[in-house]
Amino acid sequence: DAFIVKVSAAKALNAFIVETPEHALAAAREADAARAAGETLKPLAGVPIGMKDLFCTKGVQTTAASHMLEGFKPVYESTVSQKLWDAGAGMLGKLNLDQFAMGSSNETSYFGNVISPWRRKDGGNAPLAPGGSSGGSSSAIAARLCPAATGTDTGGSIRQPAAFTGISGIKPTYGRCSRWGVVAFASSLDQAGPMARDVRDCAIMLEAMAGFDAKDATSLKLDVPNWEQGLNPDLRGKKVGIPKEYRVDGMPSEIEALWQQGIDWLKDAGAEIVEVSLPHTKYALPAYYIIAPAEASSNLARYDGVRYGQRDLPDGAGLQDMYAATRAAGFGPEVQRRILIGTYVLSAGYYDAYYTQAQKVRTLIARDFERAWLHCDLLLTPTAPSAAFALGEKSADPLAMYLNDVFTVPSSLAGIPAMSVPGGLDKDGLPLGLQIIGKPLDEQGVLNASLAIE
Ligand code: GLN
Repeated sequence: DAFIVKVSAAKALNAFIVETPEHALAAAREADAARAAGETLKPLAGVPIGMKDLFCTKGVQTTAASHMLEGFKPVYESTVSQKLWDAGAGMLGKLNLDQFAMGSSNETSYFGNVISPWRRKDGGNAPLAPGGSSGGSSSAIAARLCPAATGTDTGGSIRQPAAFTGISGIKPTYGRCSRWGVVAFASSLDQAGPMARDVRDCAIMLEAMAGFDAKDATSLKLDVPNWEQGLNPDLRGKKVGIPKEYRVDGMPSEIEALWQQGIDWLKDAGAEIVEVSLPHTKYALPAYYIIAPAEASSNLARYDGVRYGQRDLPDGAGLQDMYAATRAAGFGPEVQRRILIGTYVLSAGYYDAYYTQAQKVRTLIARDFERAWLHCDLLLTPTAPSAAFALGEKSADPLAMYLNDVFTVPSSLAGIPAMSVPGGLDKDGLPLGLQIIGKPLDEQGVLNASLAIE
């Protein structure tokens, strides 16, 4: 009940698109009944969580924060959300996000931007970005509106908003969580994962969310480890690599200091620190901003005004006019930009110059990591090149916005697990995040090193 009251009192943050108190209450009642009957409780019995509005929820509006899907009520439940309900959790509501998960500040949402509950110490009351695209999730958890939420991460959308709001979030290995029923952005990159106040809660959530699903062809056929039980902040015998290419030009001294602090914490936990090289790092961002829009342009072709939500049918219009009118009205400017970039890089004349090149770069980046694993078990980097910026500060400049993803995109391209944990506050009193990157399937190692930092 307390969470339901808080959610409806915190409208100013705009974290929720839809509130579903009855769903959360039903789970709470079920947990109470099980407790009263002396039954063993499910792992998330009665826990009220937020659901990023990219996960299809049966009978509950699912919009991807786009006008295109306004009013769309799926007739099916996504695998990940179903697994959470099976584990006993209940849904407080659907969380706001960047439209179709495209963005780093939550400003591309059709339903208005989310506001971070954080403020600069001496910076007046300028509202700050909660990060993106999972900005509703990060803001709601930071404001204590819910103890945990789902996120999705295509190029950093779990980790960067977690860093901006002082919470934790893990993107597992690609294929750990089923993509079935998650509105697709870039299918070869999209991965669901949990966001929560601390590492342990992330481990518990991830256990419930992960697992093989025959309905997703890229789902990994592996048992779900007991990550919570395996938590151990003792890093003796572990080597942590510091990738020198992540020391980008113009990196604020506070981020440098944060990174050094992280190194010291990991040393204190017993880890050995080694310098490693990931030579193709600087090509990751351009490759990502070719591959992700290319896949998006294909995935978003399904929103044609016939099958889902929005339809614009001007008087006397034919089929083509309906497509055009629907898509012009339904997609926001950032989504349209991505579709245009995507169709351009996939067009016959430019395919080899852009798309094929980007795919080769992607392979080189994955190989960089494979070579690094010969020298270390984990990597430590900052999560983002800055603390949270003010709303509006970067929204007019897409390139400045894209640059915010510089540290999160390489591990997305490689499909490997990565987590952001709070590392401290900057001079304005805003949270900064540290990122732990691990080998494929080594979520345990990532969680453990994150625990040592926390
Ligand atoms: N900010 C990145 C983008 O706009 C990543 C988004 C995401 O991970 N969903 O594409």
